[in-house]
Amino acid sequence: MSIRDADLVLALDFGGTKHTAGLTRRGERAWLATAREFAPGHATAADDLEIMLRLARGLLEGRRPGVTGVSFGGPVDFYSGTVRLSHHVPGWENHALALRLETELGAPAWVDNDANVAALGEFQFGAGQGCESLLYMTVSTGVGGGWVLKGHIWRGHDRMAGEIGHMVVEPGGPECVCGKRGCVERIASGTNIALQAREWLAAQPQRGGKLREMVKQDISAVDARTVAQAAAQGDDLAWEALARGARALGTGIGNAANLVNPQRFVLGGGVTKSGERWWQAVRAAARATALPEVQVEIVPAALGDEAPLWGAVALAINQA
Ligand SMILES: [Zn+2]
Repeated sequence: MSIRDADLVLALDFGGTKHTAGLTRRGERAWLATAREFAPGHATAADDLEIMLRLARGLLEGRRPGVTGVSFGGPVDFYSGTVRLSHHVPGWENHALALRLETELGAPAWVDNDANVAALGEFQFGAGQGCESLLYMTVSTGVGGGWVLKGHIWRGHDRMAGEIGHMVVEPGGPECVCGKRGCVERIASGTNIALQAREWLAAQPQRGGKLREMVKQDISAVDARTVAQAAAQGDDLAWEALARGARALGTGIGNAANLVNPQRFVLGGGVTKSGERWWQAVRAAARATALPEVQVEIVPAALGDEAPLWGAVALAINQA
């Protein structure tokens, strides 16, 4: 029988491709230890769980934590601690993850989706400190969001609040993975910035010289990072693809500002590293969309990849 250490907080981050565990003490802002492992290709929920439990037990070294907080990359019913599904990994459908972790690790466990958890992490430990309300957004392969209002995660009636990625900003625009047209994500995500650039390169053979050079004329190799690099070097086609995404994102933010009027918007994810010009375009579109009386403060996330893990700590401590 292992010894329970009530001050120990275990944080787990089930990502799409990698799993991370961290151990800290209540009230501290540093890890005692962390561990990370990439998921194998074609992993199942059982594989993910096995990896995560191995990482957790390695950190705990025979101790039981006081509480466990969990960030999961997919829709979660927070109140029952149940994962609804993973968009990447089979076997997670209606999985009672909190209960399973409680049984395995001998401590209460709290599970929420990664955007909500990261929002809480930035609120409590990162770029949202001192705020009463914020919308956290990750702009990466997709676009996700999570609300913190009056210090609490706002989950909404169907636990679907914060889905700014599927706010329609170009009605009749390109078709999104969700089936609708002209969503923020369909234009502003890294995947779709790259797709737009590739389409324009194919249709306009005289343009995009720097971008073509960067991928050695192999258009299929264009990704969001190369688009941002070419844009920074003055490639007009690359910048237009990036700017279209920034405008869509800023329009979504301006609409969200008009509707909820949060104190701050915190943006993380790979696309936010596209340079100062991208940030200016996002801010300009948000400003143009929001009412003059609505202030729109848009800042970079501070915790980077660790936002879900620190958010898991905050979730666990707040619930305990
Ligand atoms: Zn959509």
